[in-house]
Formats: sequence, structure tokens, C-alpha cells
Amino acid sequence: MRLQIAQIGEQVLRAPANELSRQDILSPKTQELIEHMRDTMRNAPGVGLAAPQVGVPLQLAVIEDREEYHKKFTPAQLSERQRQPIPFHVIVNPRIVSADNTGLEFFEGCLSVAGYSAIVPRARAVTVEYLNEHAENKRVEAVGWYARIMQHEIDHLAGVLYVDRMRPCTLTTLENLERYWKDVPASDVLAKLKSRLGNRGGYV
Ligand code: ZN
Repeated sequence: MRLQIAQIGEQVLRAPANELSRQDILSPKTQELIEHMRDTMRNAPGVGLAAPQVGVPLQLAVIEDREEYHKKFTPAQLSERQRQPIPFHVIVNPRIVSADNTGLEFFEGCLSVAGYSAIVPRARAVTVEYLNEHAENKRVEAVGWYARIMQHEIDHLAGVLYVDRMRPCTLTTLENLERYWKDVPASDVLAKLKSRLGNRGGYV
């Protein structure tokens, strides 16, 4: 079943979500929610979906980066983004326990800010502890694009959206992203806007 995706301004996106107990995770209700969130994410399509985005204030998100989503990128773009397929998995009550704060800047979007994109700095790598859909303890070191997805989804569970972290002057519709910045490295986009705007455009 496909669920409706809440759009920015909806208050469930702006509230910290609640933790789940192991019993909550294993309940039929949560298992069904996970299935519906997986279907909704694949249908969108997206590489991650957090429960608040479907109106449920719980610390749960689904993640999957499929190879078929990579076709529109060149091998150079994929390698620059350190983007590789990530199998479907579920994160519950995730915590970032350490981060490599080397910042990487790329355009990023969100299913709850439909039609827009902006450059968002993110840590290159994060180590995350979480429970999976079987209520088992997991720990993963996510690097590159996977680290970006993790940070984006974990932000959702705290009521934070990418617009809170973006370079404001880079916010663009997807049409204009295609029109002006297709194949332009994010660092060049920032350099161009900075040279035009100085500090007036919220670059720094
Ligand atoms: Zn999002």
C-alpha cells in the first residue's frame, strides 16, 4: 500500500519522533507500517523514507539505494558522490555515535520538499547504532552517499529538514537544477554563486 507523503509545513515533520520498544518493533502494526513505507519509498521513488513523512511520529526509517537509480549519473558523478547500491533495510531508534566531519557538498532532495533541491553539506562518514526490523542491535559505518542518506533520515526523526542545513542561495526547482547546473560540480555552483553574491546570498 502506498501512503501519502507529508509535505513541508506539516507539523509532524517538525517534531521529534518517539522511540520504539523491542515489542513495538515486532508488533504486526509496525511490521505492516514497514511494508507500506517500503512500497511508498519505491513508488516515489526515493532512497529513504522516515515514519514522520507518512504521518507517524516514530523513530523508524527505511533506506534503499537501487542500482537502477544510478543510470542518470555518469561513473565520475557516482564515484565523486561515493554512491553505491544499498540494500533495503530498516533503522529504528538510530544514533550517530561518531562522524568523520570532513564536509561533502552535493545537491540533495527530499520527498517532503517535492520538486526542489539544494546543496547540503554533510559529514563524509557516520557510524550509526540502531535496531533493525527484528529488534536486533546493529552498528554500521556509512560512507559517502549512504552516510548522507543516514544523516538525512536521522534528521527527520528529530524534526529537522535539509532546508535547515542547506546553502540557502542554492535552493532550486528540479527543472532549474537541470537547466542551469546539470553536470556542474557542486563546488563550482557554490563558487559561481559566491562570486556573484558575496556574503549576501546566505552562502556562508
Ligand atoms: Zn527527506
